Amino acid sequence: MSLHIPFDNSYATLPDAFYTRLHPTPVRAADTLAWNAALAADLGITGQDPAVFAGNTVPDGAAPLAQLYSGHQFGSYNPQLGDGRAILLGEVIDQTGVRRDIQLKGSGPTPYSRMGDGRAWLGPVLREYVVSEAMHALGIPTTRALAAIATGEPVLREQGPLPGAVLTRVAASHLRVGTFQIFAHRGHIDELRTLTDYAIARHHPEADGPLGLLAAVCQVQAELVAAWMSVGFIHGVMNTDNCTVSGETIDYGPCAFMDAYHEGRVFSSIDQMGRYAYGNQPRIAVWNMAQLATALIQLMDDKDAAIEQATAIVHAMPGQVQAAWLRRFGAKIGLTEPRAEDQPLIEGLLALMQADGADFTNAFAALGTDAARDHFVDRDAFDAWEDKWRKLKPDAEVMARANPQIIPRNHRIEEMIEAAVGGDMDPFKRLMDALSQPYDLPATFDDLRRPPTQDEVVPATFCGT
Ligand code: AMP
Ligand code: MG
Repeated sequence: MSLHIPFDNSYATLPDAFYTRLHPTPVRAADTLAWNAALAADLGITGQDPAVFAGNTVPDGAAPLAQLYSGHQFGSYNPQLGDGRAILLGEVIDQTGVRRDIQLKGSGPTPYSRMGDGRAWLGPVLREYVVSEAMHALGIPTTRALAAIATGEPVLREQGPLPGAVLTRVAASHLRVGTFQIFAHRGHIDELRTLTDYAIARHHPEADGPLGLLAAVCQVQAELVAAWMSVGFIHGVMNTDNCTVSGETIDYGPCAFMDAYHEGRVFSSIDQMGRYAYGNQPRIAVWNMAQLATALIQLMDDKDAAIEQATAIVHAMPGQVQAAWLRRFGAKIGLTEPRAEDQPLIEGLLALMQADGADFTNAFAALGTDAARDHFVDRDAFDAWEDKWRKLKPDAEVMARANPQIIPRNHRIEEMIEAAVGGDMDPFKRLMDALSQPYDLPATFDDLRRPPTQDEVVPATFCGT
């Protein structure tokens, strides 16, 4: 069946200042590695054509473009970033009425490529595919993966030549904090206003003006970071260009799920200072919202009043994160309506996990079973904790829905990538199958629940994407 994508494009109707129109760069030999048929159906897409998802053919109705944005990277402002290796093909309205972007990533150079080659290699493409789809199955807002296509061309990275690939990413939009920042920093107020109106209409229609938008984004980002914390996810590059206005997780670069619990855990090899360590993520989410506030204030006539109001909105965010955190972690220990008084109990468990190097996912999943204490070295300390906990009458069903049995562990991802490089996609398929049922995992996947052995530990993830 020939491919049909029911495009309905809105970003391409915005003024030229927001993007550069251009086509993807064709590749030598497009070959489908992965295709997400269920997502395609949600999007109203019929048929498949690797030539389209490799960028060799521009499909009917597409309006391909590279988006402009800037952002703070590791705390320093970079005045221009933009889609250096991504091209937005266009948008569709999905089966639930939501407008969604269809973007190729790794589709060749653009005017925003700077020193980069505009390409991606198969490793990070499959990593993003697996981790974003796992995130979706965990019930956490995220961009999705529609296709992974091998290009038949090598990509040169530090490790040497590697097989190239293109990912098709689907997102509620690709509007980032950095999209606002670039126009605010340039003093392009008309564009900033157009963008703000567009973002409100598309994502937060109930929001009243720029500060209403700020409050709405703070709320969705607070929920998002608490959700990440609850599954042990470390984003790794929480730069403002990787922070969406929609509240979806975006940009799976050097991200990872923790095995052994530690608040200070860092995976990214480029995050030497631990700015984006696990336990820092709530603070960084707030910092990112302060950058959005700084941009949006430019739109307000009464600057003093606007600064005061925006400051109040951003200062309210730690409380929102805290409330969302308590709800999420409360559920993980079986409390339907956790109260502030329950927080020390949750923190007590995390402290034991940290001291004993307990596996975050498996220890939570085992709570309430005889196997729970085996995850701890100091069994007496755990028994004492458990006694206190049982008095609260935890609800096993609430726990089952909050504690996944499986997460995409780094060593399994690396193993899957290695196999794929050798032409074997079976580990990818099996991992995807298991990760699609995290709360109801068939016993046949028990081996994928196991934390890495000493030899298997992947200590760092690389940005060399
Ligand atoms: P990221 O760290 O993936 O969020 O990317 C930061 C910026 O670098 C964005 O503007 C990307 O488009 C750009 N970028 C990353 N990798 C490449 C590449 N291989 N070629 C061109 N631009 C890239
Ligand atoms: Mg990015």
